Amino acid sequence: MDKNTSIIEIKGVGEKTQKLFAKLNICTAGDLLAAYPRDYDAFEEPVKIRKAPPGEVCAVYAAVSGIPNEKRVRNLHILNMNISDGSGIMQLTFFNMPFLKKTLKQGGYYIFRGTVRSRGTGKLMEQPTIYAVEQYRAQENQLIPRYSLTKGLTNQAVRKCVRQVLSFYKFEPEYYDGGLLAACDLISRREAVEGIHFPEDYNVLASARRRLVFDEFFDFLFLLRKNKELSEQLTNHYRMAETEDTDRFLAQLPFPLTKAQEKVWKEIRDDMGGPYCMNRLVQGDVGSGKTILAVLALLMTAANGYQGAMMAPTEVLAVQHFETVQGYIEKYGLLLNPILLVGSMTGKEKRKAYEQIGSGEANLVIGTHALIQEKVQYASLALVVTDEQHRFGVRQRELLAEKGKEPHILVMSATPIPRTLAIILYGDLHISVVDELPANRLPIKNCVVNTAYRAKAYQFIAGEVEKGRQAYVICPQVEAEDGEQSELENVVEYAEKLKNVLPVKVRVAYLHGKMRPADKNRIMEEFSAHEIDVLVSTTVIEVGVNVPNTTVMMVENAERFGLAQLHQLRGRVGRGEHQSYCIFVSTSEKKETMERLQILNKSNDGFYIASEDLKLRGPGELFGIRQSGDVSFRIGDIYSDAAVLKLASEAVDQVLGEDPQLEKEKNAALRQHLSKAAAEGVDFRSI
Ligand code: ADP
Ligand code: MG
Repeated sequence: MDKNTSIIEIKGVGEKTQKLFAKLNICTAGDLLAAYPRDYDAFEEPVKIRKAPPGEVCAVYAAVSGIPNEKRVRNLHILNMNISDGSGIMQLTFFNMPFLKKTLKQGGYYIFRGTVRSRGTGKLMEQPTIYAVEQYRAQENQLIPRYSLTKGLTNQAVRKCVRQVLSFYKFEPEYYDGGLLAACDLISRREAVEGIHFPEDYNVLASARRRLVFDEFFDFLFLLRKNKELSEQLTNHYRMAETEDTDRFLAQLPFPLTKAQEKVWKEIRDDMGGPYCMNRLVQGDVGSGKTILAVLALLMTAANGYQGAMMAPTEVLAVQHFETVQGYIEKYGLLLNPILLVGSMTGKEKRKAYEQIGSGEANLVIGTHALIQEKVQYASLALVVTDEQHRFGVRQRELLAEKGKEPHILVMSATPIPRTLAIILYGDLHISVVDELPANRLPIKNCVVNTAYRAKAYQFIAGEVEKGRQAYVICPQVEAEDGEQSELENVVEYAEKLKNVLPVKVRVAYLHGKMRPADKNRIMEEFSAHEIDVLVSTTVIEVGVNVPNTTVMMVENAERFGLAQLHQLRGRVGRGEHQSYCIFVSTSEKKETMERLQILNKSNDGFYIASEDLKLRGPGELFGIRQSGDVSFRIGDIYSDAAVLKLASEAVDQVLGEDPQLEKEKNAALRQHLSKAAAEGVDFRSI
């Protein structure tokens, strides 16, 4: 079995299971091994009831005391019983498990594991898992992986498949030389893959994760350095003169550019008119007004008689940019002839677009990956803008650039990262920062609440809708997962629920990444046109969506998201003249969780927020929450793995310094590995 073996080869996987795996983008043995667990269940040492911390999962070793109490509420059978361990008493509640009354013996000792809740002065566990003492002891201190699932696929089933694949899998030979492995203190790739799926303990997990993160960063940075060599000081083939078009456009806009926008616009103009080809990253917090800068650059390109292209990571965003530009053209008479090119267009529509792009009739092309498909031939591509570029691999950026003869490159990103990291991650680009928000913005009002507040939140949303405003509600999941009873809200059911609790005239719809692109576009268009009032969505809307009439952002299971990501979500409101509100709903009772979320109240500075979050979370927390939702690494996190990122960066420098073409014998395997990685465009997570 190797990377490309279809998962249908796994014993026990039939067509039905294959389809379920396909839903998770798992088609081959390699995909399965790369679908790392999202979390682990630990069978830790039981604690005393008195010390069991509310809000956390733990195990207690205790005896059943007193007579169980049964009741029925409609179809639900509820069984309450007490347990005690000498330090205190805890109440257990079970649903639809009447048989436990008999199987759990009075006075018998068991281990109960579940989430502890506080009720009044007492403590409570609902539906804990029950273990015989020996049974628990046998797996004590083991970490059991928990995978991302889909309806119909259980954690148990995924685990079995992973085990089987691991025992037959042919791993790529080690590609780092011994010196590098030792200097960076890395375990082997095989140990790492085994260790990430079935770690014996936390130490194994930590070193497994470290190797995988290192590899991911190493591949990325290596290809980035190569790219830099290629793009450094390329001659500017398209020296552009300043034209009146951009000044006229600016004079007509209802607002002046901020100082920061003006500064960056000058940098862009100077690049495009200067001796060298532009390679520039524009970094600016959400809402800082990056789109207008792109439009200005594209307008200057068209005015000089060339073509420009703008690539967005999602169709929703591409369509939105297209409409923004159309709006400007209608209002301000810009001399642009834009065309949209996205995957969901029909063959006929696409062919027509190719024609207009090939003939040069369209001087601005806006779209998704479709822009870099082989069939697209440009007449005179001189500028390529990529929005929210962290969603793209370097290779994709290169492909688009190859469409023209070394066109100017402008990359926009809202990811708040410190300069030292930016230099590593975007080493091949010059960096401009839009470090100022437009002045007309009212600060967003935030609140962090628990689930008891929901009813009030719905009332509030209904009130805003009544005033003519719109709202987003974000849920972490698309659909309910099978297996353990999920505490996560999901988009589909939530939208149904909202329809019932909000007044009938409030128009509710949902949006998630697994919908067909055409449906996503339609929903987003309807929302933009205010034909929908409340949009229940996953984080697909996190990237750059701009509907300034939306004033409420409600996030369910906020504890599940990294603060940097919540900050991005918050950036979807407060984009217009109306007062906007953010409601972060946390289902966790943990004190630290609430404290962590409160950071969002203290600041509107994305970078400050990300670094405070990092300070608060201990180094032990390896999984669970990703700091940022938007930097596209599969396992590495540029914030919490900043140290490994720096290490990988130094390792790349060292290897390239000693052997720039990887010609030495000791680097033969590495050369092979990297050329494969380059051909595959490196596997970056995409939404
Ligand atoms: P982002 O930087 O997140 O991509 P956008 O470019 O989408 O932000 O801009 C957000 C909103 O701010 C848009 O509605 C845009 O028209 C508006 N905007 C941009 N620049 C200014 C400015 N200088 N003054 C006022 N509003 C602005
Ligand atoms: Mg944007």
